[in-house]
Amino acid sequence: MLMSQLYAPTLRETPAEAELVSHQLMLRAGLMRRSASGMYSFLPLGLRAVRKVEQIIREEMNAIMGQEVLMPIVQPAELWQESGRWDDYGDEMFRLKDRHSREFCLGPTHEELITALVRSEVRSYRQLPLRLYQIQNKYRDEIRPRFGLMRGREFIMKDMYSFDKDEEGLDESYWAAFHAYERIFRRCGLDARPVEADSGAIGGDVTHEFMVLAEAGEDAILYCTKCGYAANVERAEGVDQEKTAPAAEQKPLQEVATPQISTIAQVCAFLNKEPQDCIKTLIYLADGKPVAAMVRGDHNLNEIKLRKFLKCQVLELADEETIYKVSGAPVGFAGPVGLSVPLYADYAVKHVVNAVVGANKRDAHLLNANLDRDFTVTSFADLRETQPGDPCPRCQDVLQGARGIEVGQVFKLGTKYSEAMGATFLQENGVETPLIMGCYGIGVGRTVAAVIEKNHDEDGIIWPMSIAPYHVIIVPVSMEDPVQAEAARKLYADLLAAGVETVLDDRDERPGVKFKDADLIGFPIRVTIGPKSLEQGEMEITIRRSKEKSSLPMEQVVSEIQRILEGGDVK
Ligand SMILES: [Zn+2]
Repeated sequence: MLMSQLYAPTLRETPAEAELVSHQLMLRAGLMRRSASGMYSFLPLGLRAVRKVEQIIREEMNAIMGQEVLMPIVQPAELWQESGRWDDYGDEMFRLKDRHSREFCLGPTHEELITALVRSEVRSYRQLPLRLYQIQNKYRDEIRPRFGLMRGREFIMKDMYSFDKDEEGLDESYWAAFHAYERIFRRCGLDARPVEADSGAIGGDVTHEFMVLAEAGEDAILYCTKCGYAANVERAEGVDQEKTAPAAEQKPLQEVATPQISTIAQVCAFLNKEPQDCIKTLIYLADGKPVAAMVRGDHNLNEIKLRKFLKCQVLELADEETIYKVSGAPVGFAGPVGLSVPLYADYAVKHVVNAVVGANKRDAHLLNANLDRDFTVTSFADLRETQPGDPCPRCQDVLQGARGIEVGQVFKLGTKYSEAMGATFLQENGVETPLIMGCYGIGVGRTVAAVIEKNHDEDGIIWPMSIAPYHVIIVPVSMEDPVQAEAARKLYADLLAAGVETVLDDRDERPGVKFKDADLIGFPIRVTIGPKSLEQGEMEITIRRSKEKSSLPMEQVVSEIQRILEGGDVK
């Protein structure tokens, strides 16, 4: 490709719309342009990187018996009504009607469609296991699309679905995909850490997210350096710890006036207490029924854990009216003493002695509330958000915190969709059974963005060789000089003949401009052709990542580049 013809409009200035480095660089290097909020056009360089990631994914999916298919983006509402997700998905789903007023959506994911696809064809255990995947655009109408490809409304995703005859089969499919993901991200030059996660709207019980640790990540994760445990903060398990210090003496319960003081911070300041001396009581509606949940004052309640524990569909903080009805007080004064709704407490609440709690009365709190003496709980559970510094649930060592970019996720779905949609097969013993499913996603664009987020410097992108849009750029200092121009054209032809993906910067620009663009776009190898080195029959090779320069006799340049490419830079 000639640089004079390549459609890669680079920008000198950082675009105001972009906060993340990866987003800024993808715009500045001319990889993509925004067309609407959360929707992007890939330009030639961006698309080449995307296609290379897709190719790596394809190879690894095929290696685990994945077969590629392509399903429609537009999906009929009936399938989603069968699974029950037409309503559950809410506003995140792009919905549309055809000319006959039939309802459709733009696929946010394809569990329903693929289940419908196989249910009419897969009838026997002999046809299993079956692993089908596609690489395609997905649509989610995010409230706040941001960070470029990190959270778009249209995005390219690889989604694989596995169908097995039993749990062992699912296990095999799951771990095959898990290990394929490890290889895919490694080949893309990413260190992606599998972490235990919550399955959210997709359903299922066992799931791992693949996280690239990065400050810019939207997810908070916790990990243990000792045993390797890692989990999304939504999911990270809390520990029901034994009390280590001897219990303090219980003091008499006492009501104190706390006029207009309702938050933990205000209460602590007013009563000269620490947050861990307090117990927060929150009133929720679980499928419409009021319940109370308690966590220590310095902890946050994890609503996902509470919802799972209560096994309810909808969990929401109660409205003011309900809170008044339940506690007899406005928001901020609920407490466990005398409360008549079911009361669930996080494990850590067990160990709070002489707690400060709401008095279930306007402008009042109680001092020295004690479990068993002053209140009882319906049950204890792991209900709080686990934090850095908490003990590891596996080995009790201290958990570390980090931020991560989720680039992939694997789920064991079980029979959630096959049961709801009647996708069954005949087992060896003749019994009709729902197919056992798993699903496995990779955000392709997000993977490219994560690569840039982790591989750049102040000059621009540093592509790993495996997904670089082109491997080599040839930069003659001046194309006006016929000797340089001829040497450049010859090298260009030789590299193309050797199968090396090469761009020749044939523009009539100052060398500084050409070098800046080469660094910004991030070609892994630059060959500079200048008048002085040419006189000695040499050319200069610069490695983008290490900035190492070396001068080589002209006739050795092609073989040296081939040698570098064979070695790759992804370990
Ligand atoms: Zn551990």
